[in-house]
Amino acid sequence: MSGPDPLRIVIVGAGVSGSGVAAGLVRAGAAGGFSAAVDLVDPRPSLGAGLTYAPGGDPRHRVNVPSVRMVAATGRTGEEGAEEDFHRWCLERGVLEADPAGWSEGLHYPARSAFGRYLDERLRSLFAAPGPVLVTHRRDRAVAAHRRGTSHGTGFVVEMAGGTATEADALVLCTGNPPPELPGVLAALGGHPRVVADPWAAGALDGVARDDRVLIVGTGLTMGDVVATLLGRGHRGPLTALSRHGLVPRPRPAQATSWTDFTADPPTRVGDLLRRVRAAVAAARRAGRPWTDVLESLRLQNGALWSALPFDERRRFQRHLRVWWDVHRFQAAPQVARLVEAAQADGRLAVLAGRLVAASAGEGASGGDGLWVVHWPRGGDGPVGRSYDALVNCTGAGHGASFGRNALLAGLAAQGLIRPDRLGLGIEVDGRGRALDAAGLPVPGLFVVGPPTRGSLGEVVGASEIVPHALAVAEALTDRRRRVGNAALVSWRS
Ligand SMILES: Cc1cc2nc3c(=O)[nH]c(=O)nc-3n(C[C@H](O)[C@H](O)[C@H](O)COP(=O)(O)OP(=O)(O)OC[C@H]3O[C@@H](n4cnc5c(N)ncnc54)[C@H](O)[C@@H]3O)c2cc1C
Repeated sequence: MSGPDPLRIVIVGAGVSGSGVAAGLVRAGAAGGFSAAVDLVDPRPSLGAGLTYAPGGDPRHRVNVPSVRMVAATGRTGEEGAEEDFHRWCLERGVLEADPAGWSEGLHYPARSAFGRYLDERLRSLFAAPGPVLVTHRRDRAVAAHRRGTSHGTGFVVEMAGGTATEADALVLCTGNPPPELPGVLAALGGHPRVVADPWAAGALDGVARDDRVLIVGTGLTMGDVVATLLGRGHRGPLTALSRHGLVPRPRPAQATSWTDFTADPPTRVGDLLRRVRAAVAAARRAGRPWTDVLESLRLQNGALWSALPFDERRRFQRHLRVWWDVHRFQAAPQVARLVEAAQADGRLAVLAGRLVAASAGEGASGGDGLWVVHWPRGGDGPVGRSYDALVNCTGAGHGASFGRNALLAGLAAQGLIRPDRLGLGIEVDGRGRALDAAGLPVPGLFVVGPPTRGSLGEVVGASEIVPHALAVAEALTDRRRRVGNAALVSWRS
């Protein structure tokens, strides 16, 4: 007797998240009892790299985790030693010898583009191997999806920008970090030729001239990338970086070992969490251990801690603690942290704390073709206006606008099939990654993986947090199918 028809799954986005789900499905197929035809939809040419690890990206942009600890789902996940697979690949391909500057305290921080090449190579060979799960990379953009009956129950029809449409029993949204949005106060500068609204776009900084006076808005990891690119190209003009607190990411320590368990009795108030973290840091210091060990515990336990916080406390965290969390959690590769520090020390980069107040095209009252930007220094007693030749927006992912700017997400939201989480960070999901509809009920067969889930699940942002999430969603897709065959999609509601 033949088995049920293969499940048809459409995964939108082939970055770490989407390719991770596909790799999990292939692995499940190899284990037996599961077959599927998977369309992995992404206009980008490479697999796995997504926005972050584009193989052609600037080699000065480094992974912020050493090569031995960069994880990915490539079909090898779970095998012994798989966690060092990227490092071994770097050794085999001569990446480490070719990039001596990548070493720091015996660890190597390769270019993000190297991680992209690694992912592409591993995933291509995984998906090319014959097996019951067939993955096809469709280089297209998904622009719409709606519900429709399929041979496995209720499913979706997904429409592509190229004009084709695909039926799917299950749809997995892995659309990643939405491109940065200009802050409201800079809106008048949108479209100005000297304003880089999205520094993650390929070639975004090509229009910045060597002697330009550059204002970088935001002082996080993307600021580090921008400074690395500009200085690496021989930039001579003054660089100014501005954010409300003027905090720059901490350098990644060589070693961090989780040391504290906050989850046994997780705090339900942000104030209690902060007190416990401070107490743990003090206890760590007394025991001769660095604060980064406590941070490592928070990183590993953040999902459980986030889910224990009621909505108002999550909002409080966003308002008051997020900025502190980000600079401690999203640490810079040591090379980038040192570069930023050295540039500050020798006067090439000034990092300011303050609030943007106004911006316009032209050199203040005198006009001209520069940019006039006014900020209010933190703790200062009045606004300060300065002129610049170029502005680079490094405020991070534009979560607030993610629905509006992605036609697929906007359309799903308009149909009530997905909704923004209450913090406006992405798409609301339940604990199993299932999208919640307008009424707050899980939509059968509709999953979300990666950064868009952070408002619901906590920090699913770094590769090491995304991979387990992607594999868990793959497992949810295969598990149900194995147990209930053709009734699978109906039972996903339970
Ligand atoms: C600049 C930057 C640097 C980072 N550095 C690190 C690091 O060093 N280490 C680390 O662990 N994490 C890092 N991160 C975190 C990063 O979020 C994750 O590591 C991971 O790359 C996210 O993968 P993703 O697949 O969810 O998203 P993305 O990489 O954003 O990929 C999403 C993909 O979805 C596609 N897509 C979106 N909408 C559609 C559509 N409608 N149709 C078809 N395709 C679509 C896009 O083309 C894109 O390729 C960094 C993030 C950024 C932004």
